[in-house]
Amino acid sequence: MREDGPRVTVRLVFGKKKRELAARLANAFANARAVADSGDVAVLRRARDKLHEAVRDADASSESEELELVMVLGRRITELREATIADRLRPCAHCGSRDFRLSEEFAIDQLDLPTRYETSPKLRLLLCLSCGALAMFLARHEDIESFDLQRLFPTKLRAREEPRGPFR
Ligand SMILES: [Zn+2]
Repeated sequence: MREDGPRVTVRLVFGKKKRELAARLANAFANARAVADSGDVAVLRRARDKLHEAVRDADASSESEELELVMVLGRRITELREATIADRLRPCAHCGSRDFRLSEEFAIDQLDLPTRYETSPKLRLLLCLSCGALAMFLARHEDIESFDLQRLFPTKLRAREEPRGPFR
């Protein structure tokens, strides 16, 4: 009888931990469902990351509706990000064409830059389908505010004013 004591305790502690994880998962799931139609990428990302973490910790099955919602939120975030880029898109600076292809996001440390940074902003390439000009830009516009851009881009330049008047 006495020998069973510790094992029972372990099982109880384990059971309590499991219940806590299950409760956290249910909570994260309810929250994620409530914001799933939001147009705010930051809100969606927070909900998605919390739910993803809870799914991992609770060891939910790979076919669970919780994990499915993680994917749904991920797709929604991608759609919103691409819509934002499309809204900001202007005709090609070189040829005026309006047709482009857009790369996936990649990290700046996937380029061989001398000024590496541990937490890279995400970048994307934009290819003009008419003249082949490539533009590289921050994939997430808000990163202009949030990254230590001085370390990545140590030199500051300002373009000259557009020539004015009737002659160049
Ligand atoms: Zn072009």
